[in-house]
Amino acid sequence: MTATRILVLNSGSSSVKYQLLDMSDNSRLAVGLVERIGEETSRLKHTPLAGDGRSREQNRPIADHDEALKAVAEELSQDGLGLDSPELAAIGHRVVHGGKRFTQPTVIDDAVLKEVERLIPVAPLHNPANLTGIRTAMSLRPDLPQVAVFDTAFHTTMPESAARYAIDVETADAHRIRRYGFHGTSHAYVSRKTAELLGKRPEDVNVIVLHLGNGASASAVRGGMCVDTSMGLTPLEGLVMGTRSGDVDPAVIFHLMRVAGMSADEIDVLLNKKSGLIGLCGDNDMREIRRRIGEGDEAARLAFDIYVHRLKKYIGAYYAVLGRVDAVAFTAGVGENAAPVREAAVAGLEELGLAVDGALNAVRSDEPRIVSPEYARVAVAVVPTDEELEIARQTYALVANRAGDRQEN
Ligand code: AMP
Repeated sequence: MTATRILVLNSGSSSVKYQLLDMSDNSRLAVGLVERIGEETSRLKHTPLAGDGRSREQNRPIADHDEALKAVAEELSQDGLGLDSPELAAIGHRVVHGGKRFTQPTVIDDAVLKEVERLIPVAPLHNPANLTGIRTAMSLRPDLPQVAVFDTAFHTTMPESAARYAIDVETADAHRIRRYGFHGTSHAYVSRKTAELLGKRPEDVNVIVLHLGNGASASAVRGGMCVDTSMGLTPLEGLVMGTRSGDVDPAVIFHLMRVAGMSADEIDVLLNKKSGLIGLCGDNDMREIRRRIGEGDEAARLAFDIYVHRLKKYIGAYYAVLGRVDAVAFTAGVGENAAPVREAAVAGLEELGLAVDGALNAVRSDEPRIVSPEYARVAVAVVPTDEELEIARQTYALVANRAGDRQEN
């Protein structure tokens, strides 16, 4: 196959992030972002990495995703990388919710679009935006394979014992209530990279992946397959996050309804947008929280301690789920950059074979690396995630396979 370029699109409700990659050498040709779509203050920032690397910006109202993608296409054309290029093999779309059905990256057709639409009730914020991005891209290049890569797919290997909530089965099934998990593309990429870092095959290692960004999730990966993850029906469950509470007693919700007179929507906003680190101390950026702790700020210290306590509980839980752990891998904004979080999360777990080496942990780097001392039984790794590369890789593998099949027929 001569076409080796993949355009990766991540369409949010008012934004589109994109990257153009060349899979012959995994290089990035262009990256960019359109934000505040539908507002007066929309902005497109485009960086052609293949050229002089100098960013270009458009600051003008961009009415909708259609206009946004057309503007992106024009920017790419200016660098000779347009959507009409014969070197473009496919467009890979990040789709947040693939339910139980989508266990693999999938070439998009009408039936796939319908199914993603059917999942809107369980992903009301994300799937409609993802669909808009897909439909727009399809209208621009109807002849090109468009591939959906689902955030939930990696977690579809979870056994029922981990995926089901212990609630009435009929009610759960009627409303598709189960644990789906998210950030799957990142967990897949990081668990595979961690095996590589250990010099082993993914099939031969058990890894606990801690994806700690503004959203945060943990997963237990046995031999390359996810067996448990901390996010559930929605990304609200699990770890303490930038603005999400993570686990709470579900009764908190009825209590707020009955005692505080709050509506379901108000509680939704409270738990998703005004809780977690920001709810605890007013900041959701770990850098700022560390700075405040340095000044003796009590609220910031408590927020940090609650964050780390939850993280440690999940490490312990997934250790028990896996039985044997080869590595704990930290990734995403906090996981990759915040050495004190890594140190505090494994502090006191020496009996489990877990420790960090102070000097190694303090090193800043963009490379995957091990930060545990040599004697430690379990490797503590820092593995920068790359969801775009993983989406491009999965998309390319799928279309290259299809092209191969066609040739054989
Ligand atoms: P992400 O969602 O992966 O982009 O992660 C974003 C979060 O990473 C920010 O909200 C910060 O809390 C955190 N972060 C980014 N850089 C640093 C850093 N140098 N030190 C500590 N935390 C960081």
